[in-house]
Amino acid sequence: MTNNKIFASIITIGDELLIGQTIDTNSAWMAQELNKIGVWVKRRVAVGDTREDIWQALDEEAESSQIILITGGLGPTADDITKPLLCDYFGGKMIVNEQVYEHVKTIFLKLNRPLIERNLKQAEVPDTCEVLMNVRGTAPGMLFRKADRVFISMPGVPHEMKGIMKSSVLPLLQKEFQVPVILHRTLLTAGAGESFIAERIRSWEEALPSHIKLAYLPNYGMVRLRLTTSGIEKEALESDIDRLFLQLQELVKDILIVDTDTPLEKALGDLLIKKNKTLATAESCSGGYIAHLITAIPGSSVYFKGTVVAYAYDVKENLLGVQHETLEVKGAVSEETVTEMLKGLLATTSADYGIATSGIMGPGGGTPDKPVGTVWVAVGSKEKIVAKRLQFRFDRIKNIELTAANAMLMMFQLIENETEK
Ligand code: AMP
Ligand code: MG
Repeated sequence: MTNNKIFASIITIGDELLIGQTIDTNSAWMAQELNKIGVWVKRRVAVGDTREDIWQALDEEAESSQIILITGGLGPTADDITKPLLCDYFGGKMIVNEQVYEHVKTIFLKLNRPLIERNLKQAEVPDTCEVLMNVRGTAPGMLFRKADRVFISMPGVPHEMKGIMKSSVLPLLQKEFQVPVILHRTLLTAGAGESFIAERIRSWEEALPSHIKLAYLPNYGMVRLRLTTSGIEKEALESDIDRLFLQLQELVKDILIVDTDTPLEKALGDLLIKKNKTLATAESCSGGYIAHLITAIPGSSVYFKGTVVAYAYDVKENLLGVQHETLEVKGAVSEETVTEMLKGLLATTSADYGIATSGIMGPGGGTPDKPVGTVWVAVGSKEKIVAKRLQFRFDRIKNIELTAANAMLMMFQLIENETEK
């Protein structure tokens, strides 16, 4: 096995990426997958649908990376120019690939859509490439070799790109490149800022061996800590990183939420499964976003009962039993309101645990004593309810995300504390 790192570059193509109309999720996903198989991503470059820029990106990335993965610009319309450009770049001519031709025809037959000449163009590929079949769409993946470099072009549609990556690209790279392992260990903390954590673990961090790196990843008021190492001796590295990871867990024991790289909604779901309990939400300011996050986790039907998106006063009153007087006297954004929302929710859903939110997400609607970003969250069960006032200072969307993250954190901590005893 070689000790040398294998480097990859990812080039994403499309004007929509440069103006921010489409967020480049492709390169993030590809980077994660490459990492898993031990390939280091050297650079991620986005370029427009412009011949000179794509050409230059290919030249530049091939200087530093053995593997160049490209997505986008493969559509059948005039704005997509990647395929003819690759044909010129690798010095070939366009030919019809029979297998792709049949595949495109089959797709259109299944969809019962008329097949026009422009669609059949998708079956044309440079004769210098190896075709990587795209079972999820019409534009095939294409693999080119130049010197010892491998260039792989895939469509921009994320679902199609992922299909080609999984079925062809990742297995091929693993077979052709002798890659060192890359190991990560990640934990999630809450309740302390990154500077505070850094101070606390300073001497431990300074004593880390040079092949182990520590990263601080703050988000939503929580901090993820990630240890990373890479090399050829898998067993030795694993034992090193696991030993240090245990030490790190011990150092942050009081603020540790989970010792895996999972989102909070997954950690909460896993905890509910472990305790054999159910959850429901009553959401005003978060508008169902907590329920969305929870139900995006496969298998959540086992522990998630449902949500009431109680935005208006009358919905809070009629569906959750909040007293009209409470809303009038204390206001919708108050400890009393979220507590009554939660009690009503637990009564109507028979869930073991519940989360209730109410807040002012902005940009308007703030008052001197309840400025924009004021949120009340209540979490609990029939036995115990904890309510907390939170204060955020961001835009509407970020405030909603923060409400969801902090409410789930409060719920997680209450369940853990309650069942620990
Ligand atoms: P294309 O292969 O250029 O025809 O891309 C088809 C569609 O895929 C575009 O309209 C985008 O919505 C989407 N897309 C392209 N590149 C990316 C990317 N890097 N990340 C996420 N979506 C993308
Ligand atoms: Mg495009």
